[in-house]
Amino acid sequence: VSRRAVLKVAINAPLPGAFDYLPPPHADVPLPGTRVRVPFGRRREIGLVLEVTDGSDLPRSKLKRVASVLDQQPILGEDELWLIGFTSDYYHHPVGEVVAAALPALLRQGRPFEATVEFIDLTAAWDADSLHALARRAPRQAEVISHLQSTGSCTKDALDLAFPNWRRVRKPLLDNGHIRIEERLAEPAPNERREAADGPTLNREQQAALEQLRANDGFCTYLLDGVTGSGKTEVYLQVMRDLDAAGKQTLILVPEIGLTPQFVERLEQRLGSRPALLHSGLTDSERLHAWRRAAEGSASVVLGTRSAVFTPLKNPGLIVVDEEHDMSFKQQEGLRYSARDLAVARAKRLQIPVVLGSATPSLDSLQHIAADSYKHLTLSQRAGGAMPPHLRLIDTNRHPGAEGLSPPLVSAIDAHIERGGQALIFLNRRGFAPTLICGACSHIADCQRCDSRLTVHLRDRTLVCHHCGGIQPLNDTCAACGAQTVPLGEGTERIEEALARRFPQHRVTRIDSDSTRLKGTMDRALSMAVSGEARILVGTQMLSKGHHFPQLTLVGVVNADQGLFSTDFRGGERLAQSLTQVAGRAGRERQQGEVLIQTAFPQHAFWGEWLNGGYHQVARFGLAEREAAGWPPYSRLALIRASGHQRDDPMRFLNRAAELAREARAADVRILGPVSAPMERRAGRYRGQLLLQSVRRGALHAVLQQLRNTLHAEPAARRVRWSMDVDPLELF
Ligand code: ADP
Ligand code: ZN
Repeated sequence: VSRRAVLKVAINAPLPGAFDYLPPPHADVPLPGTRVRVPFGRRREIGLVLEVTDGSDLPRSKLKRVASVLDQQPILGEDELWLIGFTSDYYHHPVGEVVAAALPALLRQGRPFEATVEFIDLTAAWDADSLHALARRAPRQAEVISHLQSTGSCTKDALDLAFPNWRRVRKPLLDNGHIRIEERLAEPAPNERREAADGPTLNREQQAALEQLRANDGFCTYLLDGVTGSGKTEVYLQVMRDLDAAGKQTLILVPEIGLTPQFVERLEQRLGSRPALLHSGLTDSERLHAWRRAAEGSASVVLGTRSAVFTPLKNPGLIVVDEEHDMSFKQQEGLRYSARDLAVARAKRLQIPVVLGSATPSLDSLQHIAADSYKHLTLSQRAGGAMPPHLRLIDTNRHPGAEGLSPPLVSAIDAHIERGGQALIFLNRRGFAPTLICGACSHIADCQRCDSRLTVHLRDRTLVCHHCGGIQPLNDTCAACGAQTVPLGEGTERIEEALARRFPQHRVTRIDSDSTRLKGTMDRALSMAVSGEARILVGTQMLSKGHHFPQLTLVGVVNADQGLFSTDFRGGERLAQSLTQVAGRAGRERQQGEVLIQTAFPQHAFWGEWLNGGYHQVARFGLAEREAAGWPPYSRLALIRASGHQRDDPMRFLNRAAELAREARAADVRILGPVSAPMERRAGRYRGQLLLQSVRRGALHAVLQQLRNTLHAEPAARRVRWSMDVDPLELF
């Protein structure tokens, strides 16, 4: 191959396929998985060699040469390259962008795999007087010096965190010889082993699940279907310990908000070593460091959110997807992949088991159980003997209340706190009120750029659009007629205030994405919730999953009714999941929990199903409905979305896409639409969508492939942004 070799190189560009290059002169042909620097248009780009072949569709004389090779060894192995190729094919997405999603930023930018880190040191000691003198002339320099005096040798990242502006004085500090900056190898901390703490003795069901998991070391997809608090995590931990002892690694994927310090701490204690963590809160060098520990095999557990599914593993033994039903496993923009589905594909390729865990499994997974393609492991009881919570509806027509809180809910809060319990009030809406209306002319404050209303945030005195992020100052008078405005409806901020007024003697803590924006505030709020210092918690989805608050006995759901009338065919599944998860926070220890749900529609069929038969009853009915209607999992969907500045642009493009899809003449593919999106205008752009549906995945993908190849060249494509979403989770 070597004399005639052609390299297929992935480059981060929105063009399908890899690009052909010749190997560098006078050097070995780089292996697949190696980064190279290549001429690309007028620029130089960093690319990744995907394949070495001996031919090209282009004449050899047209091919450019690789300029330089960045890695001595491939940074991705065959299996990881396979996953990248699979992802690109399955989601019909440019392979270069898949590589970009899979690599840590520093590697994408061409930094060495053997990461070095800039360390900053003082060149001399300073006494108080000379520092004081400097402070008068150059206060910023003095601040940095005094910081370095207290920390000693400091990494650039750490200094960036402490002094975001220190770079402005970097040059004078260097020129005056006050500091020295050195690149040093960021040595992976030796994998410190501690004594691993023993967990509880597993109960019969946990033991049975564990034995089934142990029985199989080839590929198998397990659904660990266990009620909240049934000890699913204990089962994973046991398997992980077995594997660790055998030198094998486990990759655990968790939802974005599931990666709490409590969870990491528990893992660390039980494994006796530090997992490699991969999530969005890391600095670039921390991320690269964790990635290397996974790739080199020094971390026995790799724990991360969605994108961690691409992390290379030296000795993979198991993949776990915790809370597999969670929507955050699906990326909703750019490369729209499902980390859960990719985890299963990757495990199959690696011939290792994959465990999907949930108290509320997705209907897709339950259908796999029915079809016998997943193995079902059930934990039907709470571990440690806690009882399931008692569920009850409150009819808000009969018990109307002030500011969203009905009298029975308020007295239940009182009673539970009186008995030493803690209450969680759940509401999936941030802000003070979802609507600002004029008391005189009924004018509603709406977003100029979206078809939506503005949410009142009283504490910041702002009106915020939750769709485009637009912010305006809150005005107490109507923009149309000048009369007094009134906030209508409830958000978490309003409920928090109402509770604080009603229960002045108790601490009320709100946990949502507004209250936890500052670094560290989330951890502080959670630890107050765990310790019981906060007697009343108010929160969104963020509080409803995965947490264990030992003293929590009451859950109140303020308003679940939006979910009852969702137009999405997944609406019922979502509502049942979110209610079951939040209910699962109640009474996880000795005291039995109680769950009160306020609704104006107590007769709705959903309530009967959920209250009497639980999540699985809703799921059974839901699956039957979907089968009758031909929705997933009984068919496959793909959604083509387009948006443009003029209302007609997306429609013209989507009509053309529909025509091309029809011309592709795949008999088994239904073409639905195009239609405008349910919220047509968002952030100033008009949006439309075209839905493709088929019971045959192959037929659907053949059409998508054709569209992918031809749509780029359509004139109508120039006036829109468009994307393809394979297996969309949201139909708008
Ligand atoms: P899940 O992951 O299903 O929500 P966890 O594994 O977090 O459940 O367990 C819930 C609680 O029950 C934890 O505090 C855990 O330590 C405890 N627990 C789990 N298994 C047992 C057991 N076999 N005996 C006693 N306590 C257990
Ligand atoms: Zn908006």
